[in-house]
Amino acid sequence: MSKPIEFSSTWSERLYRGIVLPGFETVFKRRKTFQFADELQRSQWWSEAEIEHLQRTRLVSLIDFCSQHSLYYRDLWSDAGVRPADIQSASDLPKLPLTTRETMRDHSARIRTEITGQASVSKSTGGSSGTPLRFTIDTEANDRRVAAALRGYAMAGGGVGTKQVHIWGGAFADQSRLRAAKEYVYSRWLYRRCMLNSFHLSDSNAEGFIHQINRLRPQVIVAYTNPIDMLSRIILERGVQVHQPRAIITGAEKLYDHQRERIEAAFHSPVFETYGSREFTLIGAECPEHAGLHLTSENLIVEVVNEDGQPTPSGEEGNIAVTDLWNRSTPFVRYLIGDRAVAGTVNCPCGRGLPMLRKVVGRRLDMLHTADGRHLPGEYFPHLMKDFAAVRQFQVVQPTAEEVVVKVVVDGSWSAEQAKRLRTLVREGVGDTTTLRIDEVQSIPLTSHGKHRVVVSYLGDASPQDALKVESVL
Ligand SMILES: [Zn+2]
Repeated sequence: MSKPIEFSSTWSERLYRGIVLPGFETVFKRRKTFQFADELQRSQWWSEAEIEHLQRTRLVSLIDFCSQHSLYYRDLWSDAGVRPADIQSASDLPKLPLTTRETMRDHSARIRTEITGQASVSKSTGGSSGTPLRFTIDTEANDRRVAAALRGYAMAGGGVGTKQVHIWGGAFADQSRLRAAKEYVYSRWLYRRCMLNSFHLSDSNAEGFIHQINRLRPQVIVAYTNPIDMLSRIILERGVQVHQPRAIITGAEKLYDHQRERIEAAFHSPVFETYGSREFTLIGAECPEHAGLHLTSENLIVEVVNEDGQPTPSGEEGNIAVTDLWNRSTPFVRYLIGDRAVAGTVNCPCGRGLPMLRKVVGRRLDMLHTADGRHLPGEYFPHLMKDFAAVRQFQVVQPTAEEVVVKVVVDGSWSAEQAKRLRTLVREGVGDTTTLRIDEVQSIPLTSHGKHRVVVSYLGDASPQDALKVESVL
């Protein structure tokens, strides 16, 4: 497939980007989103050294602020024997202790800072039945992260003013009619986004979704990974005609290589992966070179570290720790987000100076621990299942340390022979001492945010709800 390196703008895109939206956001809403988006459009082309310099300045200021205004960080760092002056650049960060979701939740009152005139907005993450993390973001820091998301989408050809269809979940729960109407006007008329609720997508109504796409003819489709993959499978299987957008942007759920191939084959459009979280919004996004995820480095420092918080050697997997350079009201410093990535930087031929994350390999929680003591990454199963065409959906659940349950939704072509082969292959992964059950089920429920989780582990102190995060909803 040919790669569009430049996306040309239509007159309507230019009208929305140049007049309608800046007018609304800047003059009417008094938000700085567009000013920040312009800054980010420019800084992405700076050299690596210039971006590093920017990070250093912002990091020093953040550390200084936290040590003065956040009781928790002041004590944590002083107990670790680190003075604020010891942190002069990202390479000094391993001197500071890591923080976790539990840290942020248990010490929120002492982490938070209250400065006169510091306006903030509240956010939360976590499943409805779990233990959600509530935090605040300075209004300006929030504008900056929205701007970063706009920049990330623009890299993929989904800049402000492009006509978009979003197949997304979770946006419509518990809304009043007035709120829903406001959201509709905001999305549809101002941002030219048509929202289709991925919660409602099923095998039986998928063609209705495809019909909507054909009717709306979006330039870009933004979607949860699994729903757009499911639509793609149906398009290919049933030979349904579908409109070809210039790009498909996936988010919220991990994108596996075979899913990317299937979506590209169905829509004849390039797929762009994004990586984000509720705590930080957009963390990384692909450019048209598809060489990795360009990080939002003007706003965030992203490290890949081992269990002791030290940098993971290049090429090896580690935990992702994020420092938010802007959010002063609830500072996140070296926060373990719960995801894993391959360490080491790569250079992108596109010329952007923004460093790249090679690959996000999945959630720490989405990992199985076999009875014989091995750690099996969640990726094992999508790779295995893609060779079983009769498996429509699957989920691997680990209720106890000794047991693994594989749930499969299968179609009419499923046979006893395939079931036997599946059992043999899964057995290879989980080892001989793990009790293995393969259940054929009618359906697999989505998480409360409409996401499909491939692997659910109930081990350790983390509840499965910990992983139920809604990410990068603009
Ligand atoms: Zn690039």
